[in-house]
Amino acid sequence: MTINLKPQRFFKKHTLSFVLFFYLALSVFTACAPKAEPKVVTTTGMIGDVIKTIAGDCFDIEVMMGPGIDPHLYKASAGDVKTLQSASIIFYSGLHLEGQLGEVFEALQGKRPVVAVTQNIPETSILKTSSGYGVDPHVWMDASLWASTLDVVKNELSKLEPDCQAKMQSNADAFKPQLLALHDWVKISIASIPDQQRILVTAHDAFNYYGKAYGIDVAGIQGISTESEAAIADIRETANTVVERKVPAIFVESTINPRTIDAVMQAVLDKGQELAIGGQLYSDAMGQAGTAGGTYIGMIYENTKAITEALGGTVPPLPQELEAWAQTWKVEQ
Ligand SMILES: [Zn+2]
Repeated sequence: MTINLKPQRFFKKHTLSFVLFFYLALSVFTACAPKAEPKVVTTTGMIGDVIKTIAGDCFDIEVMMGPGIDPHLYKASAGDVKTLQSASIIFYSGLHLEGQLGEVFEALQGKRPVVAVTQNIPETSILKTSSGYGVDPHVWMDASLWASTLDVVKNELSKLEPDCQAKMQSNADAFKPQLLALHDWVKISIASIPDQQRILVTAHDAFNYYGKAYGIDVAGIQGISTESEAAIADIRETANTVVERKVPAIFVESTINPRTIDAVMQAVLDKGQELAIGGQLYSDAMGQAGTAGGTYIGMIYENTKAITEALGGTVPPLPQELEAWAQTWKVEQ
């Protein structure tokens, strides 16, 4: 199984003869290669992590959106459309997260399964919003809700590769308790922050599920989607909240330009209050592959550690269910 991030278009720079040679070499190689695994294409790294954990080596997995990519604004390139057309199955997040890809998915529907991994989340758990598409898509921020995507992925992939069903079932059975243990750990961590300053100020509203699940107030300056700009009034209002509650730190996000956070920072400093940047949070994309933050568990773990410590709390040691994960990624506690 391989995880490929969006391919770089470096071939353009090379000569025709090199391309022809490479093509011929590749033809010979693929002629000798064993039967290719069915291809799964997905949008975000968070879904890619679930698929990779469950599917083992039964599928070839390609993730379209790498670290730092904003899914709200992401448009499919000609290369992406080709990749999607070559897929045996496509998983996407849904709830209008991939706002620009709706038509592409619609066109691909019917020729192969095109599945929203959030489809099992009960209506009552979906947060409604007055802006954007009317629903908040950032469900991966609540690990207990994200755990419900495991069954969707396992069931859909089992239909494609029944021989892998038992293996995928046991992988899912091992992964789910880790996510639920992570959920409890985050709750305890956030509860350790002093009441008054238990508020998470970030660039856009990606953390409402996190706030609800783990008991922290949330103030996103820019709203649910990144498709609209933050207004000056939003910046002033956020700065006032920070001053009133004596919030010691605010946070930048890995997929968002830090401009609005810098503006709030300046407005608070102008009022004579000290304020720190509490670190960069993973909001709509995970960290680099090959690092702890490049896994779903690591994304939530690192966010929680940064938030808790910058706001004056203390994180407890990770639970036993996550010991193996911590060892794999050499996470010091
Ligand atoms: Zn977002």
